[in-house]
Amino acid sequence: MAGLSLKHIYKVYPNGTKAVSDFNMEIADKEFIVFVGPSGCGKSTTLRMIAGLEDISAGELTIGENVVNDMEPKDRDIAMVFQNYALYPHMTVFENIAFGLRLRKLPKDEINRRVTEAAEILGITEYLSKKPKEMSGGQRQRVSLGRAIVREPKVMLLDEPLSNLDAKLRTQMRSEIAKLHAKLQTTFIYVTHDQIEAMTMGTRIVVMKDGFVQQIDTPKNLYDYPGNKFVAGFIGTPQMNFFEGTLLKKGDNVEINFEYSEAKVTVPYSMMYKAKPSYLDGKKKVYIGLRAEAVSVNPAVVKASKSVIKVRVSHKEELGNQTLIYGDINMQGDGYTESSTRIIINADVAVDFKSGDIIDAALDINKVHLFDEESEVSILPRIPEYNYVDCTVKDGALSFLGVELKMPSAINCPDGKYDLLIPTDAITVKGKDADITVVANENINGVNLLSFELGGRRMFAVTDEEVKKGKAKIAIDWKKISILSADGTVVEAMPSVMTFEGRLLKEKVVEEVTEKDKTKKKKVIKFFLEISGYKTACPDKIADKLITAIGVKHAFGEKLLFECGPYDLKIAEEGISAEAAETADYGREKFAVLKVGENTVYAYTEAQVSGSVNLLPEVDKLSIIQADKHIRIV
Ligand code: ADP
Repeated sequence: MAGLSLKHIYKVYPNGTKAVSDFNMEIADKEFIVFVGPSGCGKSTTLRMIAGLEDISAGELTIGENVVNDMEPKDRDIAMVFQNYALYPHMTVFENIAFGLRLRKLPKDEINRRVTEAAEILGITEYLSKKPKEMSGGQRQRVSLGRAIVREPKVMLLDEPLSNLDAKLRTQMRSEIAKLHAKLQTTFIYVTHDQIEAMTMGTRIVVMKDGFVQQIDTPKNLYDYPGNKFVAGFIGTPQMNFFEGTLLKKGDNVEINFEYSEAKVTVPYSMMYKAKPSYLDGKKKVYIGLRAEAVSVNPAVVKASKSVIKVRVSHKEELGNQTLIYGDINMQGDGYTESSTRIIINADVAVDFKSGDIIDAALDINKVHLFDEESEVSILPRIPEYNYVDCTVKDGALSFLGVELKMPSAINCPDGKYDLLIPTDAITVKGKDADITVVANENINGVNLLSFELGGRRMFAVTDEEVKKGKAKIAIDWKKISILSADGTVVEAMPSVMTFEGRLLKEKVVEEVTEKDKTKKKKVIKFFLEISGYKTACPDKIADKLITAIGVKHAFGEKLLFECGPYDLKIAEEGISAEAAETADYGREKFAVLKVGENTVYAYTEAQVSGSVNLLPEVDKLSIIQADKHIRIV
């Protein structure tokens, strides 16, 4: 039994294919995790890296307490089940299951006990003396599961184990594997391209596309809160309907207009609190997502609804327990081809529509999903990044929502009216910048999202813990806010990451070494980092990671990017040469603003600094990125 930790895991195959990019996840002991996504998205590669069948190009993999990057598969305490059973045809079922245990030279009694027990759990006791060829596909897959179980692994890895089975058997085996997981109380990681398999089995699901994790969440949350259009379309059958459209704020309401159609519905603005105001201008294009069951043709529902649209029916699919109606919200549309006006409706009542009928359909507006047309990311994220409010700047004071605050000198903004962006992580519930009323706390995957009222507006903050409902006071972190005018950014948030260019160096150094009471000179290889012209010793651990990830041939000389925060840079005797330009005073904190070549860099300091100085980075806190391939190695 063990948890796993995957930190910045990458896989680049020798031919240059980047199969997995920056995979990050903490898996708790006993979880049932499913990796799902279309063919080629990198799910098997990730599983094979966990198994040790594939080298990890960069990143750190921990199973239980141990970093296992360099550990042989046999030492990782994992067991793997494959799609193609991989049974030995000349051995009996018993021998197949016992094979690994015999190799490990377990006592005969122990082998007998484990094999018998596994066969019982899997219901294959009566086949133990048979050969695999006398068994069906489902039974053979049970044998290969048995072979994994008897090893009593800390983690079970399953790579599309049901793909070779027919539909009925797959459904049956699905519940058997779920039962097996409950019984064994072991961590399971399961790979499939089948979203139904993923949804029915996983405690959490990782949706992948093109080597990138799209979303990690419970089945229900993936369905209810897809973070982007890809996840929204991938999870659920029939596929979510997507329309193009625009949003226009009118007082307390927002009008959703469907493109290429007369369809239009109105929703309360309160539903859009989390959306960036620029989406509500009636011009910016969005994708409107509606699942088939969020549209109703039930006459009673249509009658009671204020969100009714016209649909021209094309055909229907009778599925026995449900009827899918295909149609188009464009009266010229054909309803057959997938388009930005085609609609599929899950009819919950008996219907008697004919092709060409024009019918009324009611939209459940609480179930509308909205995505940015370019990035395809949800414009109503569960945890919003910013609060967007109007503000006024006059005589060094910033006013918004009835609050007036004297601006610290680092915020340099001419008088005028602007948009203010306050990140949700820039608000803390202490201090005395503003009086708020706490409305709600929502735990979203371990993060507390606080909703509060300020000057009649709903706002959000990400906090460490729940805050009691009612009156409270907040402080705003000035260095994180931005002020925007129609022409662009007037005040930019202080960057949280500083970037330097450099590389890894190796040098032969002559050292005096003492061996057996004799001191002699010896040549040793030492590693150094060159960071923006500053040379410093490179800890062996970091050099190892760089050489493993880049390859010994190219590691020295390869362009690297070093990243760190403003608190990880000290003004010191030695370090990166920099010119101090000014001090950014954010009230509670001060930062030196420095020029390193063309770049502007911020470093936390209590002192006033000027002229030429040296910036010493904390080597242990640096992130190191292979610049050309965008791989975070450290
Ligand atoms: P999935 O399991 O999601 O179908 P894989 O992890 O098998 O995807 O593959 C991810 C990507 O890596 C694909 O583009 C695939 O072609 C590529 N790939 C897989 N194995 C190798 C290999 N041995 N050499 C080069 N490219 C590979």
